[in-house]
Amino acid sequence: MTNEKRIYLSPPHIGEKELHYVHEAFATNWIAPLGPNVDEFERELADKVSARGALALSSGTAAIHQALRLAGIGRGDTVFVSTLTFIASVNPVLYEGAEPVFIDCDFETWNMSPQALERALIAARRENRLPKAVIVVNLYGQSADMDPIVDLCERFGVLIIEDAAESLGATYKGRASGTIGAYGIYSFNGNKIITTSGGGMLVSGNVDALAKARYWSTQARDPALHYEHSEVGYNYRLSNVLAGIGRGQLELLEERVNARRAVFSRYEQVFRDVEGFTFMPEAAYGRSTRWLTALTVNPRIAGVTATELIKALAAENIEARPVWKPMHLQPLLRKYDYFPHTEQFSVSDQLFRQGICLPSGSSMSQQEQERVIACISYEMETRRATHESA
Ligand SMILES: *Cc1c(COP(=O)(O)O)cnc(C)c1O
Repeated sequence: MTNEKRIYLSPPHIGEKELHYVHEAFATNWIAPLGPNVDEFERELADKVSARGALALSSGTAAIHQALRLAGIGRGDTVFVSTLTFIASVNPVLYEGAEPVFIDCDFETWNMSPQALERALIAARRENRLPKAVIVVNLYGQSADMDPIVDLCERFGVLIIEDAAESLGATYKGRASGTIGAYGIYSFNGNKIITTSGGGMLVSGNVDALAKARYWSTQARDPALHYEHSEVGYNYRLSNVLAGIGRGQLELLEERVNARRAVFSRYEQVFRDVEGFTFMPEAAYGRSTRWLTALTVNPRIAGVTATELIKALAAENIEARPVWKPMHLQPLLRKYDYFPHTEQFSVSDQLFRQGICLPSGSSMSQQEQERVIACISYEMETRRATHESA
């Protein structure tokens, strides 16, 4: 084990600007789940992505939960969800007692496969079980190919929720990722593009819906002097202190995205000619945030597996991870239906088997990145040498 400093996959990147807003919250005693930072953070974020409105919440997961409530999801309903994602995309579906059905991705985008979605919709209509909503995940900072997905959902009358937790700052045909579906959500968890330590945002063009979610997420307090309640509510609002961090972070969103993209390009420049390495493609329709640099390693061609590389990096105190384990493979979720890209082939299974995410933080120095690159190069060379001498 090395005693060099640990390099994390995606650590928070905090500067000086955030403190100004946090100090303001302290100085004015706005230490509450509401206050001027919350209002301004909502306005500034809505402006940034050109959404009509935004609602600041305690997490991205809470934002997905509120979007599902707004879509009227309840017990017995079906919700389609991208399979290649983090569990947070699915948990709120289970909170509401609804049934998820998982949809595969394609190799071109690593995001929801329109052809798998179409097969799933046709099958659902045949069984009279059309979903009320589709949760489209924009993976690792790249928007899904929304046009064909929107067309299909319009044809079948299904509402779209965009899980843009990883893609704040990305675009699809010039529009901000997260603003194309009826509802979009962002996350400000510590590992995301920008962070409030923990937090989330729900955006929509439907301001009445946002007002409803605002009411639910503040314990559903009816307007009255006493405490009056006629609906189930949640304690889901973002604190005014944390919203202050968010305001400072948001000012630097472009810089953060550029830094992550630069990290990706450096990896790609060094490794693009390595046979058996395939970087996650950037689709021509938009700009990815490259939240994480992800690639697949074909062991038969590269002579090394993704897992072996992750272990070699760990021995150098460097954090790398497999690509998300698809939801249809999770013990919790195995009983639900799954529609692979083609009837014969599941793309997400292969991306999971061969995928690796490299350290991608916007604060990672060039020197740190060189440590990651050197470790991978060394591992490849050693394996090749051993192979040749055998
Ligand atoms: C991080 C993440 C979430 C959840 O966000 P939290 O703020 O941690 O609740 C949801 N979906 C995806 C794809 C994520 O990466």
